[in-house]
Amino acid sequence: MKYQKSRSTSWSEFWQRAEQHELWGPNHPVNRRMTPSQKGHAVPIAIHGDEGQGKKQRSLMVLSWSIVNHRKRHILLYKYPITTIRSINMAFSSEGVNLTLMALQKALVENLQFAAEPNNCPLAPGKDFTLQLAIAKGDWKFQASWLNEVRSYANHPSTSADRPVFCRRCLCTANVNSNKHWLDMKDRGWFEPAEVSDVLDGNIGRALPLRSLSGWHADMAAADTLHSLWLGCAKDAIGSALMDICEFHEAFSSCTGWDEALSQLCCEFHSWCDETGMEKHNCDELNLTKLGVNSITFDFPSGTSKGFTNRLLLAFVAKFLQGTTNDKLKVPAVLAWAVTDYANVLENAGIWLTEAEALHAADSRWLMHIVIWRCLSSDKSYRISRTRYVND
Ligand SMILES: [Zn+2]
Repeated sequence: MKYQKSRSTSWSEFWQRAEQHELWGPNHPVNRRMTPSQKGHAVPIAIHGDEGQGKKQRSLMVLSWSIVNHRKRHILLYKYPITTIRSINMAFSSEGVNLTLMALQKALVENLQFAAEPNNCPLAPGKDFTLQLAIAKGDWKFQASWLNEVRSYANHPSTSADRPVFCRRCLCTANVNSNKHWLDMKDRGWFEPAEVSDVLDGNIGRALPLRSLSGWHADMAAADTLHSLWLGCAKDAIGSALMDICEFHEAFSSCTGWDEALSQLCCEFHSWCDETGMEKHNCDELNLTKLGVNSITFDFPSGTSKGFTNRLLLAFVAKFLQGTTNDKLKVPAVLAWAVTDYANVLENAGIWLTEAEALHAADSRWLMHIVIWRCLSSDKSYRISRTRYVND
């Protein structure tokens, strides 16, 4: 596994590929009107909105920017802050528009417009260097306000199978009889470029300041892997996988309770960290409370609120259960393997996936979905899980 990498990138090639593969590529001013030299000095940047915690655990929105696919050892060397705002200080209009974010966005767009024009770089006067917004990633809670969206992944107004309310990006549905089924990775009936552009455009605010930034396109807004994978399905999966190991793996059969077994499993995790050179402190201890299982909330076990910890724990489970012949542990083994494999493909890829990498990622994601779907569709699983923990 590799977590830090820095690749030398030709920006001319970046823009050429964007023209071929991205909805926003062909009409971007870099491709439409820049000279070859300007194109080679047009540095694509990403803005990233995240939720952080301030004093007394108050929610903060942290907005930063970075150069696309440029990473250094320490986050402070490649992610530059734009602003942090306490959620409680944000002002809203009577229609629910986040006025604070709109004012911030207006100022940001003015700055980005200036940085996108050649000859404006104060550090290299007369040179062609520019900064070009290409990607926006973020926590969907703020992303939805930032884009003034009608619907977002955090807001499903309807579960009706045929209505186009499933996704903020396209008209995909959950109806298996439709040719736009959201899980269809092969024929991708939901990907009609013109239709996707229309849906995206119709979903965001009419008066959004970003609309006035040359070359901006709603499809630049992408899901953050950390949120959707590591704090989504990985967080949901890892707690149950760890508890399944404690309950069914022969190494823990002599343990007298969940916490003893989980503590022993944590020692196994630490040995794995030593072998692979990973930092043990990402998970100091494992117990029922840590997995969110207690008699008060009485909920499914889940992983931690740190995405990277969930990622490490799943990679450990994939290794720990490798080659298991225990029927009870085959589902968690395949799930941990599929999620880890998917993540490895994405982390080791360049800016764009090759055809082989894309197929590989789609295959492991497909497997991941099947396993999760199989777990969720066993109708009594929730009630069975509850009695398991309460009897302890
Ligand atoms: Zn969709």
